[in-house]
Amino acid sequence: MLRDAGTDRPNRKSDGNNYRRKHVVVVGLGKTGLALAKFFTTRGAKVTVSDADTEESLRENLSVVKELGCAVETGGHAPETFLSADLVVVSPGVPENLPVLKQAKDSGIEVVGELEIASRHVSTPIIAVTGTNGKTTTTELICAIMDREGKTFFKGGNIGTPLIDFVNDSRKVDYIVLEVSSFQLDMAPSFHPRISVLLNITEDHLDRYSSLEEYRRSKVGIFKNQNDSDFAVINADDPLLPKDFGILAHTLLFSKENPKAHAFLDRRQEVMICKGDFYKPGKGKVGEKGAVFSFRNTKLVGVHNLENMLAASLVCFCCGVSPRAIQETINSFPGLPHRLQFVREWNKVKFYNDSKATNVGAVVKALESFPGPVVLLAGGRDKGGSYDPLVPLVKEKVRALILFGEARRRIARCLGDLTNTWLVKNLDEAVRVAVTISKPGDVVLLSPACASFDQYKDYQERGLHFERLVGSL
Ligand code: ADP
Repeated sequence: MLRDAGTDRPNRKSDGNNYRRKHVVVVGLGKTGLALAKFFTTRGAKVTVSDADTEESLRENLSVVKELGCAVETGGHAPETFLSADLVVVSPGVPENLPVLKQAKDSGIEVVGELEIASRHVSTPIIAVTGTNGKTTTTELICAIMDREGKTFFKGGNIGTPLIDFVNDSRKVDYIVLEVSSFQLDMAPSFHPRISVLLNITEDHLDRYSSLEEYRRSKVGIFKNQNDSDFAVINADDPLLPKDFGILAHTLLFSKENPKAHAFLDRRQEVMICKGDFYKPGKGKVGEKGAVFSFRNTKLVGVHNLENMLAASLVCFCCGVSPRAIQETINSFPGLPHRLQFVREWNKVKFYNDSKATNVGAVVKALESFPGPVVLLAGGRDKGGSYDPLVPLVKEKVRALILFGEARRRIARCLGDLTNTWLVKNLDEAVRVAVTISKPGDVVLLSPACASFDQYKDYQERGLHFERLVGSL
């Protein structure tokens, strides 16, 4: 259990001298690459930063790493650089199938991600959140609860600030709360959170994983180094989640309906019940009787957000946070932009921006959140998964389907016969069509089920474009 999570438990290799005179290749010169360069140079390593981008586009960061004394390589990755390394550290976002990474690994050189290096150097208890969807929302919820309780924390990982920044700053906090992606887990073999949260697994990233099973194995990897002093928080309703398959951590289940779970919903009473054995860092068992939280006043839309709340509350409850802080956060948390976000009502039609729904699982939840009818705007860059899980919901609720971007024809082949379907080039046209066909009482929902990179820099740019188009009606 979480008996002494407040005490220092240095992970292995926390001795800062380990890198002295070692040749470390840092791959990627973004925010993480910069922080890694600082980390390794401070510890006396010889650092080369390698980035596929041109010198011109990296100019600002290049001058910083040069000042730190790093060698730099731009416009590609030279095998000689990697083969002369003692250690290769990869920033998130760098494709892990780069041939030079394989060459280095094949030659026996250690190739790891930033999370691996950073987590070896922290002794603060780590709460790590993964899953196909809901990571950011749940991470923010946990931090909001901790904040209300007066706990100090570092929030980072996939959500923004890399953990290595925290290590560089040598700050002291009660908890580290991290959002972690499957790619980060793959590159962090000794990553060991005190509390690991796995929210759900649905098809995603099949452009990068060879099968759903491989993707699932990667996600379940969040538990791989945990032991019986740790916690595993798992969604009991998700058929792909591992329940107790070889997990050594103390497992806490959350469920939308199963009263045997440690946290579950009573939807008739609009309450959430947390119960079971809970432990406060350093103090042992404190919460056997549990607590009841009302979600009547939540501002969040959708049943999936109740799942996120269950998970976040369970995590905080088992850390000994007061029920008051949890209830106040449930009542006040405003939700996050681009995640089923209400934009405006126009001619009695409600517009929602769910641009962050970049996979089918998220769109399923978005459609489940409305009674219908829905005019659904979907499309973008296909990620190789199946659109079949949308079939029943499209039949039941979607009055019109407007498909845009690269994936429009592939989606139309799966769903196009189920409802009125329009194929358009881009979001401008999609909104124009939505406006002409929607009726009072409809919801117009941008929930693309695809990545945005065919037409946008990222999902935020796509969501903001949608909001501008809707705002100018
Ligand atoms: P992530 O960080 O995992 O991408 P976000 O919280 O940013 O998760 O939400 C991404 C998308 O998934 C949004 O469309 C959101 O509405 C949806 N979503 C959020 N939580 C869940 C959940 N628990 N299950 C399914 N979909 C969810």
